[in-house]
Amino acid sequence: MDVHDTAGLIRQHLIDPYTCVRCGGCKEACPSEAISFVNYTFVIDANRCDGAGACMEPCQTGAIESWRLVAQAYTPEDQSNWQALPEQDAALAEDMPCLSREPARHTPRAPASAARPLVNLHSAAYPLAGTVVLNQRLTPAASMSAIHHIVIEYDDKNFKLLEGQSVGVIPPGLDESGHPYFMRLYSVASARDGEGAIPNRLALTVKRVTEDTEGKPHEGICSNYLCNRQPGDIVQLTGPFGTSFLLPNEQAARLLMVCAGTGIASMRGFIERKRLTAAASPHALMLFCGSRTLADLPYGEALHVLAGHQIDLDLSLSRVPGQPKRYVQHALLDRHAEIAALLNSPAGHVYVCGLRGLETGVTEALRKICERNGLDWAEVHEAMLATGRIHFETY
Ligand SMILES: Cc1cc2nc3c(=O)[nH]c(=O)nc-3n(C[C@H](O)[C@H](O)[C@H](O)COP(=O)(O)OP(=O)(O)OC[C@H]3O[C@@H](n4cnc5c(N)ncnc54)[C@H](O)[C@@H]3O)c2cc1C
Repeated sequence: MDVHDTAGLIRQHLIDPYTCVRCGGCKEACPSEAISFVNYTFVIDANRCDGAGACMEPCQTGAIESWRLVAQAYTPEDQSNWQALPEQDAALAEDMPCLSREPARHTPRAPASAARPLVNLHSAAYPLAGTVVLNQRLTPAASMSAIHHIVIEYDDKNFKLLEGQSVGVIPPGLDESGHPYFMRLYSVASARDGEGAIPNRLALTVKRVTEDTEGKPHEGICSNYLCNRQPGDIVQLTGPFGTSFLLPNEQAARLLMVCAGTGIASMRGFIERKRLTAAASPHALMLFCGSRTLADLPYGEALHVLAGHQIDLDLSLSRVPGQPKRYVQHALLDRHAEIAALLNSPAGHVYVCGLRGLETGVTEALRKICERNGLDWAEVHEAMLATGRIHFETY
């Protein structure tokens, strides 16, 4: 708990339930287990919160960047009943002008040369209407995973997106407790130039969710809604979100992109941007993709066309009959010397995106790669974090 001895007040860290997308990244990242999920709301126990901000790194929407100066801490139960954060008591906050933004030790950094991202131009209270212009299934009908490429056009010149950012989509309707569904985030799969270089078009890569994480049947609210949209349908957008998973703007930069499933979305944006600026080469763009089979790989054909002359494509397939399972971690370890050189170079940037399990496996692989090449992973990692050269986005 962060207690201010001068006034005896508590500077309480909270999560804004209105902008939170319930991804759970904060809960996983919190070392003191201060965050729990109560009544479909993430809440922070002030008695456990160490105030160090490890929870802030995964949050894309900024919901985690909320503080209130209070005489008595809000309990987790109080927080679980909020639809929005309570107002700050102005009298208590007089001495604390910077209350809304606490720089945390763990705040992730963008590469120093990255373009400045715009964020939060549209909220759930003021969404941007987009029109679906294309909805194309990327994986074959026989594939277990239905992944769609969805292009949305919008009419707001200020809604400028950078590769690596995400947008929110608000599914229509009410949840079981009668509240509007909260928004879901989707990584932008197009370059800042717009999908097909049309500036007011963005692309998303959406996987239809048909089961929950335990494998029980569950029809995902927003992913199914999106995958069922037809050209001409209107969808409500929020955002942009994300201030650190961004492309360095240096010609010499080398990108190690590691992804599985829909994690390819941001990487597609990066590759498109590099191609549009004539900076794509296998040396600059290493893409390690994991997929069950070749057919399940989103944008597989397009990636193969680029492989060898614009990107260095390394595929790991985990469900090919008669072949051993191969995951991206194996592929990274196979090329340990090249990867170690990239990690150790100021020009090397690492991006990892996909389902949550990917983070642990890839981190462990990077640690082993350092070990095999005489590097200290803790030191390398710290230096990469400090210079905005390593980024994980898992959900
Ligand atoms: C920063 C960020 C970027 C994201 N980018 C993308 C993206 O580019 N493409 C994309 O499809 N999704 C992306 N997501 C996930 C997306 O926001 C939704 O969580 C996902 O579409 C499920 O929402 P839903 O409403 O359909 O499911 P809900 O009705 O909310 O049900 C969620 C259930 O589905 C499970 N689930 C969620 N995602 C998956 C998945 N991919 N596979 C299997 N089970 C899942 C959850 O564990 C939970 O049990 C991103 C999330 C974050 C936080």
